[in-house]
Amino acid sequence: MTADALLPLLKSTFGFDAFRGKQAEVVARVMAGEHTLAVMPTGAGKSLTYQLPAVAVAGCVVVVSPLIALMHDQLRGARAAGIRAASLTSVDADFADTRQAYRDGQLDLLYIAPERATGEGFRALMEARAPALFAIDEAHCVSEWGHDFRPDYRLLRPLLDAFPDVPRLALTATADKHTREDILVQLGIAAEGLVLAGFDRPNIRYRVSPRIGAAKQLAEFIAANPGPGIVYCPTRDGTERMAEKLAAATGRPVAAYHAGLDAERRAQVQHDFVASEDGIVTATVAFGMGIDKPDVRFVAHAGLPKSIESYYQETGRAGRDGDPAEALMLWGAEDFARARMRLGELPEARVAGERARLNALGALVETVECRRALLLRHFGETPPERCGNCDNCLEPPSQIDATVLAQKLLSAVYRTGQSYGAGHVEAVLTGRSDERIVSRGHDKLSVFGLVEGEEARLIKPLVRTLMAREALSTTEHGGLMFGPAGRAVMKGEVPVLMAEPPARRTKRASRGEGAAANPVGDPLFEALRATRRELAAEAGVPPYVVFHDAALRAMASERPATLAELAQIPGVGARKLEAWGDAFLAVIRQF
Ligand code: ADP
Ligand code: ZN
Repeated sequence: MTADALLPLLKSTFGFDAFRGKQAEVVARVMAGEHTLAVMPTGAGKSLTYQLPAVAVAGCVVVVSPLIALMHDQLRGARAAGIRAASLTSVDADFADTRQAYRDGQLDLLYIAPERATGEGFRALMEARAPALFAIDEAHCVSEWGHDFRPDYRLLRPLLDAFPDVPRLALTATADKHTREDILVQLGIAAEGLVLAGFDRPNIRYRVSPRIGAAKQLAEFIAANPGPGIVYCPTRDGTERMAEKLAAATGRPVAAYHAGLDAERRAQVQHDFVASEDGIVTATVAFGMGIDKPDVRFVAHAGLPKSIESYYQETGRAGRDGDPAEALMLWGAEDFARARMRLGELPEARVAGERARLNALGALVETVECRRALLLRHFGETPPERCGNCDNCLEPPSQIDATVLAQKLLSAVYRTGQSYGAGHVEAVLTGRSDERIVSRGHDKLSVFGLVEGEEARLIKPLVRTLMAREALSTTEHGGLMFGPAGRAVMKGEVPVLMAEPPARRTKRASRGEGAAANPVGDPLFEALRATRRELAAEAGVPPYVVFHDAALRAMASERPATLAELAQIPGVGARKLEAWGDAFLAVIRQF
């Protein structure tokens, strides 16, 4: 059968009119009883590929999932759509009832943690009644090549093999080629069972900007982005300081999150954020795993992320609902300096790999070409030259040929002995004499006063550029010294093209237009949101479980007058219509 036969059920259960991306292909395979590994990016809608079959077939779909928080999130969503779902975890008190319901064939969907799924008791339960499908979420956990190996996942195989007729569906968002092949082998899925969706997240707008004043830049960015968002900061202290500054500058609810806070506080921050429509969390990278909030509107990085992979994963937390979202990264020369310094502390065997990661980041921040194209190429895809939805596509920076200036700069670094900071080198180059310069005799050097007028303003940005390209590096004490690429640049062997520094660009570099699909402030939209908040609180779920923003926007613009009209709005399934339809119609009637 094709997945199209399930379109009516897709509409009545989830309120969706069509499958997205590779969903149809995956669902068709599941319905045909074939083993499948689905690799789809965050927000592609992986859960639907087993939730829809769960409603369509008679038996129960068993979902192995590693994080209790994620499971309960999914459970709430599934139940709100009218799916008979339950979970067996250490925090569920209704254990016996759930097992009985399963035995009686009264469940569509059963979530279970891997350590429990591999136990005797669960095997007995499965033998009492075979499931319709084994879905293995976060399947990269089964592979030692993956970034999150979990030994429990390895023990699933005997359970799967005990039910050879039950189809398997492994799902993951993050798996390189090596990991994918390993997952197939580990879970006994034939190579033809791989369904690979592209990495692209077209609704995320990427912006990268030099850090000039992080708090001010972020406050401007946030002003253009009224929805919820995450600001990643490099240190724990940094998250707290940034939270204070942003709260003062934006008037929005801002909370800090890092591993140094006690568990209760962390849970509180996470809970509040998930429920919030405008909250901001300043966080270390400890925040985000296991958060399934679909309406995160922006992810900002106050400093350089660890690698392109982690950048992509972290920014991927924005815009799961498919609405416009923004990612902003602020970077400085000192980020590269610090990261390169840390290379020195690594075991020899890891240095080359880490240096390559850092250089890839250097290319991302430095490029005047499409950021998305660069990211996707990094993941082995061949994207179009321009995406039309990143800073460089939207506001193409002009390029400056700084080859000669770079030669002058490196000469000055060289002649002053590779030990002075950027400020001193700049003073020498521009011929600004001071006591320190005179006492060191630097005013007698041939490079003294070599840079005049307009070009002087390019020195600091050029230091950043050369730092990102490994032509410059820093000493222990913060002085500039040559990096591996320095000599070739000084000799003029490699051209140095750089982007026009942001202050001169006609458009703002970091502010952006914002990810503002929502008509914030529109009275009807706000009234619908208020009702959604009330109903969500009553049901004990986050607002997005009631309806996504897109559904509220459609209600505000279409103004359905009857339940039948309301049912036409994307995202309004039969169950939600019955539970909440009248309440929303009543709001619309008042306008
Ligand atoms: P993933 O697990 O792949 O990150 P989810 O399963 O959480 O993604 O789905 C992301 C969002 O997309 C959810 O909010 C879901 O409601 C929505 N979604 C999934 N499938 C569709 C579809 N066919 N049409 C519209 N929205 C969809
Ligand atoms: Zn682009």
